[in-house]
Amino acid sequence: MEVKASELDTMERLGEGAAGTVRKVLHRPTNRIMAKKSISTDPDPAVQRQILRELAFLRTCNSPHIVSFYGAFLDDGDTTVSLCMEFCEAGSLEDIYKRASLLGGVIGEPFLARIAESVCKGLVYLHSKRVIHRDIKPSNILVTRSGEIKLCDFGVSGELINSVAQTFTGTQYYMAPERIQGNAYQVQSDIWSLGLTLIEVSQNCPALPPPGQPHLSIFELLDFIVRQPVPVIEGAHISEECRNFVAVCLTKDPQYRPGPNRMLEHPFIALWENVEMDLGSWVKEVWGWD
Ligand code: ATP
Ligand code: MG
Repeated sequence: MEVKASELDTMERLGEGAAGTVRKVLHRPTNRIMAKKSISTDPDPAVQRQILRELAFLRTCNSPHIVSFYGAFLDDGDTTVSLCMEFCEAGSLEDIYKRASLLGGVIGEPFLARIAESVCKGLVYLHSKRVIHRDIKPSNILVTRSGEIKLCDFGVSGELINSVAQTFTGTQYYMAPERIQGNAYQVQSDIWSLGLTLIEVSQNCPALPPPGQPHLSIFELLDFIVRQPVPVIEGAHISEECRNFVAVCLTKDPQYRPGPNRMLEHPFIALWENVEMDLGSWVKEVWGWD
């Protein structure tokens, strides 16, 4: 399938990130609802062509743990690269935990286990295609209407990463210590970010900056990540297995931090593996759907 800008009807805006805007769109030829992410890029046509070439890789991704990709094209008078992907009706884990927080609840451990398992399986899949995600965080983990948990926004296009980096103003709270120290990205760096993500969704609030120090400068924050004790997952409802899983994710030395394959063998995953969970009903409850 080839998606063209002229075939899309824009519906509502779904969200806004540092890099661009995400809108719900209708693809008329297939009558399919999609999410269109538009990112302003370098205006150089050669750079844009390169980005589109690199994004074409997404067509080869096919996994229940990865958001499906439908196509990418130049948009808005060729100032923008837009990419169309599967619309995940329940939004991101960030949307969900904020909503849960408004309702006065928290995401319980069984769901944390499903999140951990889905993210690790997604990372294993990406790794099999020689891709490292590089941006694991609650807003990049999406949930479908039936409660499937999927990864999006992974780093397949070096040109796009460069193009966005020039205007990048976002946070770096999820960055692993080895990245801060200038070492190469490895699949374990994504596991670090998963640890911070699990803490965040379980407590309805980011794990970093550390509580009590909300105004750290970027340099103080990065120094904190490298030198200070790692955050821990807390709460009466948290099992020892869960606490240990997060602690292993947040192993500072990447040499001793397991990759996603080994994290899937952790007792925390086994603890909840055979427990039946209706994530579809959970999502319905969170969003108040009939
Ligand atoms: P950052 O720019 O720091 O990465 P972000 O991930 O929140 O932050 P975007 O990737 O632009 O920024 O996404 C913005 C929001 O759009 C998400 O938080 C989510 O609510 C929504 N969104 C993104 N992709 C989809 C999708 N495929 N289906 C449904 N909602 C989506
Ligand atoms: Mg995102």
